[in-house]
Amino acid sequence: MVHLGRVMTDKELAPSMEKLNIEAPTGDDFHTSVYGSRFAAEDLPKHEMPEKEMPREVAYRMIKDDLTLDGTPTLNLASFVTTYMEEEAEKLMVEAFSKNFIDYEEYPVSADIQNRCVSMIARLFHVPTDDENTNAMGTSTIGSSEAIMLATLAMKKRWQNARKAAGKPFDKPNIVMNSAVQVCWEKAARYFDVEEKYVYCTKDRYVIDPEEAVNLVDENTIGICSILGTTYTGEYEDTKAINDLLVKKNIDCPIHVDAASGGFVAPFVNPELVWDFRLEKVVSINVSGHKYGLVYPGVGWVVWRDPEFLPKELIFNINYLGADQASFTLNFSRGASQIIGQYYQMIRLGKHGYRAIMHNLTLIADYLAANLKALGAIIMSKSGGEGLPLVAFRLNPEKNHQFDEFDVAHQLRERGWVVPAYTMAPHSEKLKLMRVVVREDFSRSRADALIADFKLALSTLEAMHPQRIKEHTQHMKKHATRTGRHKNINTHYNDEEHSLQGKHDKTHAVC
Ligand SMILES: *Cc1c(COP(=O)(O)O)cnc(C)c1O
Repeated sequence: MVHLGRVMTDKELAPSMEKLNIEAPTGDDFHTSVYGSRFAAEDLPKHEMPEKEMPREVAYRMIKDDLTLDGTPTLNLASFVTTYMEEEAEKLMVEAFSKNFIDYEEYPVSADIQNRCVSMIARLFHVPTDDENTNAMGTSTIGSSEAIMLATLAMKKRWQNARKAAGKPFDKPNIVMNSAVQVCWEKAARYFDVEEKYVYCTKDRYVIDPEEAVNLVDENTIGICSILGTTYTGEYEDTKAINDLLVKKNIDCPIHVDAASGGFVAPFVNPELVWDFRLEKVVSINVSGHKYGLVYPGVGWVVWRDPEFLPKELIFNINYLGADQASFTLNFSRGASQIIGQYYQMIRLGKHGYRAIMHNLTLIADYLAANLKALGAIIMSKSGGEGLPLVAFRLNPEKNHQFDEFDVAHQLRERGWVVPAYTMAPHSEKLKLMRVVVREDFSRSRADALIADFKLALSTLEAMHPQRIKEHTQHMKKHATRTGRHKNINTHYNDEEHSLQGKHDKTHAVC
C-alpha cells in the first residue's frame, strides 16, 4: 500500500538538540569518518529541502542507516513480490537504469525485448496461434494493477460500443467479481465508473461461485473477473466452470482472468488445469512479472486474445522522436530495467527452470502446512499444487485460545518474521487468518526456522495472562512507531466508507 503523506505543522516538529558546553570542531572537511562529521549529530532533513549540499558518502550512509529499521525483505512472508534475482540479472537491470522504455526510437532493442516477452507469455497462456487471422497482443505495465485498469477499460469500451450500435443506453456498466478481489479491482471499478457486483465468500467458500457469478450477469455487465490464485488463500477460481456456464446459457459476456500470482505457477505445476485462452470466453489475462515471474518490483503484463476485445479508440499512436508506436498504458515514461529482467529470467531459466523452482516452492509450502497443522492450526489453503505455494491458516477455535491470529503475528514480528494476520472478505463471518507466502528464496531450512518460532510464539502466548496479551497488543498498535513514521501518515482520509475494507472490515492482503 502506498500511503498518502501528511505534511506536519511547524508546532509538531521536534525541538532541536541542545548545544554542548565544549568547543565544536569546525569545517566540513572529511578527514574523519561519516560519524565524526557534523551531519551525524544533526537531524536528517525531513521537512524542508536543505539549503546546502552534503557529501555523497554521508548522504549514502545516513540514508542506508535510516533504512535499517525497515524489515528484512527475505523475512517478509507477507508479500508475493520478488526479493531475489541472480547477480547477472541485477547487472543487466542496473545497466538499463537510465533507459526510458517509452522512447522506442532510441531504444528499439528494449522495445523488441518487451514484444518477445509478450509473445512468450501469451503462448504460455495458450493464446491460439494456429490460425493466420489471429492477432493476439499485449503490453508490459508497472504491475497487475495497471494491467487490470487497462483490461477493465477495454471491456467497458467494447460493451459501450456494442450498446451504442444497438441503440441502447450505455451509462450503467457493471462488473461481476468475488468480494475477495485485490483492491485494484475496486479502484478500477471506481476510477472508471463501473458498478461492482460482488459474489460474496462464505464461511467455507473463499472463491467465486461460478453459478452465482453467471446469474449476476445482465445486459449491463462488461465482464466477469476470475482470479487464478486469490490473495487470501491462494485458491484458483474455477474459470472453466464460469466459461462453460456462459457457453451453455449462450450469454455474451467476456471473462478476464486475474492471474497476477498464478500465471507463472499453474502452467508449470498444474499444466492440466484449463484456465486460460483455451477457454473461449477468456478474452484477456494479466500477470505480475514481479511475483512468480521472478523479477524485482515494477513489471506486469496483460494480453488480449484479439483486437476485437481491445477497441481502437483506446490505442494511441505516438510519434515519439520520429517513430510511430501503438501505445496502451496509463503511464508514459518508465524504466526499461524490469522488462529486461523479465526477459533474462525467461530465457535463463526456461520452462524447465520455472518448473523446478515452482515445484520446490510447492513442496516447501506443503511441508510447512503439514507442520503447522501438527501444531494445531487449521489449514485454509490447498496443497499439492492445487493452489498457489502459500499457507493460509487460522487457529483452531475449539482450543479456546485466549489470543488470536493478530497476537501470534505480533509475537512472530518480535522475532523478525513478517507473517500477517487478516480479516477475511465480507460475509465470511469476519474469519481471521494468517498467511505465509512461499517465495523463491524461502528454502526448507528457513521453513524449519519459522516452524520453531511459531511454536515458541504459541507457548509464549499460552503462558501469558489474557489481560496482559490485550494490553500488549494495544500498546503495540499505539506505539508501532519506533521511527516516528506514523506521524507522517495522513489521517484525513481514515474514515473512508466506500471500499470493502471501509464497509466490512475486510483487510486488504499485502501482495
Ligand atoms: C498482486 C495482485 C494484484 C495487484 O498486482 P500488482 O502487481 O501488485 O499491481 C491484483 N490481483 C491479484 C490477485 C494479486 O495477487
